[in-house]
Amino acid sequence: MPQDPSCIFCKIVVHELPADIVLEDERVVAFRDVNPVAPLHVLVVPREHIETIAHTEDEALAGHIALIAARIAKREGYAESGFRVVTNVGANAGQSVRHLHVHVLAGRPMSWPPG
Ligand code: 5GP
Ligand code: ZN
Repeated sequence: MPQDPSCIFCKIVVHELPADIVLEDERVVAFRDVNPVAPLHVLVVPREHIETIAHTEDEALAGHIALIAARIAKREGYAESGFRVVTNVGANAGQSVRHLHVHVLAGRPMSWPPG
């Protein structure tokens, strides 16, 4: 049973909804974005339902999510060409799913600042 029954990422975490999972451990699940915007587009989410990075003080978990994101990018072969790790918080940032997730993007040049 997901922690928030209305949350799609909670359902992915408990395998109630299918996803292309690339990594799982006791704290996080990482899976490919259903609508990729780069050749590598993976989302790293905590198993626990946390709305955004601004809704936790768990430094160990936040650090773990960041390091898992980098590990995935390296494992998929993007250590040299580079990658982006980003989390959207709230309306102005364009957050559409209210379950903390870090995007891991790689495989094409990316502009800065983001639009
Ligand atoms: P946000 O806009 O909240 O930062 O990012 C949400 C991301 O979740 C989007 O890139 C969107 O494509 C992805 N997404 C939404 N629903 C699903 C789903 O059911 N499965 C997967 N794998 N990704 C999803
Ligand atoms: Zn959730």
